[in-house]
Amino acid sequence: MKTDVFWWRGFTPLSDQPLESDLEVDFLVVGAGFTGLNAALTLREHGSVAVVDTVAPGFGASGRNGGFCCVGGVGYDPASARQKYGEAVGQSIQQYLFDAIDHVDGLIAHESSIKHSNDGERMMVMSAIEHRHYQQAALVPPYRYIDAVHLKDQGYRLNGVLGVLHLDKGFAIQPYAYVRHLYQRCLDAGVDCYYPETIEHLTSLANHGVQAELSSGRKVKARKVLLACNGYGELSALKGRRIPVLSNIIATQPIDDSRWQSQGWTQCNMVYDDRHLLHYFRRLPDGRLLFGGRGGLIDTSRGLALRAARLQRFAKQYFPDLGDIEIDTAWGGWVTLRPNLNPYLGPLDAEGHLWCSMGYHGNGVAAGSYSGHQVAKAMLALPNQIPSPFKQHGPKLPLPRLRPVYLSGIYAALHAIDWWQHR
Ligand SMILES: Cc1cc2nc3c(=O)[nH]c(=O)nc-3n(C[C@H](O)[C@H](O)[C@H](O)COP(=O)(O)OP(=O)(O)OC[C@H]3O[C@@H](n4cnc5c(N)ncnc54)[C@H](O)[C@@H]3O)c2cc1C
Repeated sequence: MKTDVFWWRGFTPLSDQPLESDLEVDFLVVGAGFTGLNAALTLREHGSVAVVDTVAPGFGASGRNGGFCCVGGVGYDPASARQKYGEAVGQSIQQYLFDAIDHVDGLIAHESSIKHSNDGERMMVMSAIEHRHYQQAALVPPYRYIDAVHLKDQGYRLNGVLGVLHLDKGFAIQPYAYVRHLYQRCLDAGVDCYYPETIEHLTSLANHGVQAELSSGRKVKARKVLLACNGYGELSALKGRRIPVLSNIIATQPIDDSRWQSQGWTQCNMVYDDRHLLHYFRRLPDGRLLFGGRGGLIDTSRGLALRAARLQRFAKQYFPDLGDIEIDTAWGGWVTLRPNLNPYLGPLDAEGHLWCSMGYHGNGVAAGSYSGHQVAKAMLALPNQIPSPFKQHGPKLPLPRLRPVYLSGIYAALHAIDWWQHR
């Protein structure tokens, strides 16, 4: 089993662009993923911008994800945001998450090779409890529920499915192609990108602004700084405000069309199951199966091998007619949860010099991209669409060093619920 990131194959690695001397800019962005690069594009319209990354653009989750440009970004069912926050705020959250998809669509409009599919997402309901819930739920379009008995000829026959929740919004992409496209747009717009460079310390300046110290010893002064680090790095300004967890993916060897036909799976939609620790999967344009899931607290090669084997077991269970599902490659990366289950887009200091946007709960292709754009507007004091719950950083996680202990407990509980509901 290989452990390279499948998406990076066929791309020439980016050559290093270290920072040669100290720098003064209007805006400094830390992290060259979807959030940081989208923010940089918007900030560049109002001043000079430098983006810094520890490794290279797209090294983080943005170059590693499943490529589901879908509704998500909050730690609860986005369709139920109205119940959680009331009609107006709930509606603003749902609209934000839909607009996020349109935002990405606009950015890649002329890049046909980035898109893999264009017809929304499907949740495969396998637990009887969830099935009953969706049969009785008053769903509002674009959500609709189809009972498995009506699924014939729809092109997604999966072992054990009772019904399918359709959301006709969203599309699948090649995520690394998208991040490279964003990076090129940043260069074309005059954004300066430096890597490999790590920001180690941030100090508020007495007059105004922030000074960032890099591991190379160089310094960058900026009027405003945006932390777009997701679950990566160790910056103290983010301690207790984020809960990094691993997400992992396997990609199989290309599978013959005849096998896909006998499985009854002919479409390339974005699909996930109804578990709390959910699996996400899709057929890739070259016939591979991509199958992912969350789990794992420590990023080691042994841990990845164990998680890949678990994903393979589920893939075999769901797709019995695909034959011996052999893993070609497996990889993982960090996603960020937040104690209050919402992303946080806002300042980290009283003066409004240091900002962050993060915490998309494993769904940051659309939400991260749009949030980068929206948080940049907020930094510029321009009107923006950020829903009010996303402006609350909420309480910090007590004793963040105990994160593995908290998460082990949560994982154990969620595994138990999933087992109970799917037994
Ligand atoms: C395996 C996996 C599958 C996923 N699948 C999906 C999916 O299908 N759909 C979806 O919507 N979302 C998915 N996600 C989540 C999504 O990829 C992320 O939410 C999104 O990419 C976050 O983007 P970002 O720009 O905020 O962070 P990232 O892309 O992670 O970028 C953060 C960057 O910050 C840099 N950095 C950190 N600290 C420093 C520092 N001190 N100095 C300099 N640089 C620093 C890192 O090197 C990194 O490149 C998945 C994530 C993973 C890991």
